[in-house]
Amino acid sequence: MSTAQTVEYDYDRQDATGATCTAHAWAKVPAPLSPDEKTRVKERIKAELKRQNAVLVAHYYVDGDLQDLAWETGGFVSDSLEMARFGRDHAAQTLIVAGVKFMGESAKILSPEKRVLMPDLDATCSLDLGCAADDFAKFCDAHPDRKVVVYANTSAAVKARADWMVTSSCALAIVNHLKAQGEKILWAPDRHLGRYIEKQTGADMLMWNGACIVHDEFKGLELDLLKKDHPEALVLVHPESPESVVNQADVVGSTSQLLKAVIESPAREFIVATDNGILHRMRQLAPGKTLIEAPTAGNSATCKSCAHCPWMAMNGLQGVLDCLDKGTGEITVDEPTRAKAKGCIDRMLDFVAANPSAITKPAQGFVPNIGAA
Ligand code: SF4
Repeated sequence: MSTAQTVEYDYDRQDATGATCTAHAWAKVPAPLSPDEKTRVKERIKAELKRQNAVLVAHYYVDGDLQDLAWETGGFVSDSLEMARFGRDHAAQTLIVAGVKFMGESAKILSPEKRVLMPDLDATCSLDLGCAADDFAKFCDAHPDRKVVVYANTSAAVKARADWMVTSSCALAIVNHLKAQGEKILWAPDRHLGRYIEKQTGADMLMWNGACIVHDEFKGLELDLLKKDHPEALVLVHPESPESVVNQADVVGSTSQLLKAVIESPAREFIVATDNGILHRMRQLAPGKTLIEAPTAGNSATCKSCAHCPWMAMNGLQGVLDCLDKGTGEITVDEPTRAKAKGCIDRMLDFVAANPSAITKPAQGFVPNIGAA
């Protein structure tokens, strides 16, 4: 079997005083399988999913082969929250979650009675890494007058300290709701998403200083130049991107909302500023449309830019098979943390259920969700 390739990354981590320091993270990306290996591994996965009453749930950003296998085997491909809700509502007793660790944790928080396995437990997220639970608790303790609102891309321990969890689809509606109640907000961890929401709502928001290492790399200057070459293209931007990129967007939204825009818009050409893993599903659901990746390279770029999450790339077919064969990659969340973390997720789910008009409606024939990163 092929060996994994290890890749190292730097990332910024904020402490509770608001300072940033450079910390170190790494990802090990599995080497690609040969066509024969792929066929053999896929067949074994299909057989084991059936035999073990298990279901494969994948994120839009993972490898296209995994996304296709999830659909082919009665599983699901979506964003983190819908992945967790699908897992909770599915009859399978084992959930194989292809994504990053906080997604497995969310699945476990909502489905404590199920076994949740992941192809690689080291697949993480710069937002999660950059918001350590003990630092975050100190930050919250220093601002007890604020409602604590955290993004889905956080650990179970951080969620356990929060009043609300939000996703990029419902964050605006929930922050508006809190503002109307006269609440001041402590927001974590994504500074770009927080700044976008602050600007849209006018809410009083104190920000953690985290960022997604993928979206942070999109370049406003180069996007401006690219738009000149494609004047008819609609610009779709995930709000984890820098302000100079968001300011040029025709549509700002979660992965699900950007997918919906490609399907429903009469435009033929799109510039897409989010992880390029989403292009697989966009091509399937909107064949014939031209999709152009937003620039991460150019004069203002670093050599790391590639618009693809290194941790999402850690998910491979062999990892899925190992989960099923050996029971590796099991997610555990201790019960006190799980119970507390569930509180902020339930608050969001209840809000969304009570305010469906606040959330973007799904396109016709489109798998509905309320979308996280
Ligand atoms: S794409 Fe960004 S936000 Fe999503 S898992 Fe990777 S680092 Fe985290």
